[in-house]
Amino acid sequence: MSEYSNPTQFIDLKSQQSQIRSKINKRISTVLDHGIYIMGPEVKEFEELLQKFTGSKYALTCANGTDALTISMMAFDLKSNDVVFIPSFTYVASAETVAQLGAIPFFVDVKKSTFNMDPDSLKQAIIDAKGMGLNPKVVMPVDLFGQPSDLHEILDIAKENNLKTLIDGAQSFGSDYKNKKACTYGDIATTSFFPAKPLGCYGDGGAIFTQDPELAELIDSIRLHGKGQEKYDNVRIGVNSRLDTIQAAILIEKLEIFPEEIALRNKFASIYTKCMPNTIECPIIPKDSLSVWAQYTIISEHRDALREKLSKKNIPSVIYYPKSLSQQDGYKKFPMVSSGLKISESLPNEVLSLPMHPYLREDFIRHACKILEE
Ligand SMILES: *Cc1c(COP(=O)(O)O)cnc(C)c1O
Repeated sequence: MSEYSNPTQFIDLKSQQSQIRSKINKRISTVLDHGIYIMGPEVKEFEELLQKFTGSKYALTCANGTDALTISMMAFDLKSNDVVFIPSFTYVASAETVAQLGAIPFFVDVKKSTFNMDPDSLKQAIIDAKGMGLNPKVVMPVDLFGQPSDLHEILDIAKENNLKTLIDGAQSFGSDYKNKKACTYGDIATTSFFPAKPLGCYGDGGAIFTQDPELAELIDSIRLHGKGQEKYDNVRIGVNSRLDTIQAAILIEKLEIFPEEIALRNKFASIYTKCMPNTIECPIIPKDSLSVWAQYTIISEHRDALREKLSKKNIPSVIYYPKSLSQQDGYKKFPMVSSGLKISESLPNEVLSLPMHPYLREDFIRHACKILEE
């Protein structure tokens, strides 16, 4: 393995591929032979493997992680002016799907220690939305950088307020919360198989998880043009969102090595944390959670100087995210919690994501930490 490894990559997909290339080729060949490019047998096979891996009652694939959110919101029958509570520090897709359906993304602050939705801020936001005469409908915790949100607290708050929960797990597929896969919590959880996500295909892909048979049936219908029992029977307005057979075939092979990759990501994350100079804040994973480390993200008020130092030594780093959604021109018009978005709006000046993938090397991590220390 190490002979292929190129630890200096931000995300090293080549090393992974060289390990399983022949198996992937064989899988793709099989698809070319049977020629069922849409809804081929590999899609069903992969969905069954997803159920087995996650312990989720239902696992439904779709075209990408953004569609997974849209389809879920449609299954909740989200209407215009309904409110969805979303952490302001996230990727734009979380809020985009809500705005596109004519509903209102309502921005909530995050906790600095986890980058995830702050339950206290959520409580205040629900009070605020009601006070504004709006209709709170859904809470959307986003499990950022691979780490589950405070699901226990958030799900309790949602229940008390009669709100649906949709976990945007685009970055956190495979993560655990209290000894269960995080995607088995909430009314619905979604993920993405975009190539750079922890489990990625060679194109676009996504999946939706639920434990509720009625929601599963709705989701299955919505992703296929609102299909009914018969072909060309359309009982509701849907979308066209399918995982390609070839992508499913690739994902079957990638899922096979995924548990080992999660263990490696955790090993390398703990080496980063051990070697990091104590002037830099490292990510903290609560004891009852397992992160899949989509990113290893540090916090420092000297972020720009650190980034410069790394770059001079050819070590890549990325700023996820340079702006909070509340600071994005397209999203400034949407409401936010009255207690403010202090953390979400300061993190963009302080965060830095370092190379993270299962094919890193310990000496590389030590080297990177030494540069950060100087
Ligand atoms: C990547 C991502 C998405 C969207 O997934 P795509 O497959 O790219 O559509 C949604 N939410 C978050 C938090 C993401 O990181």
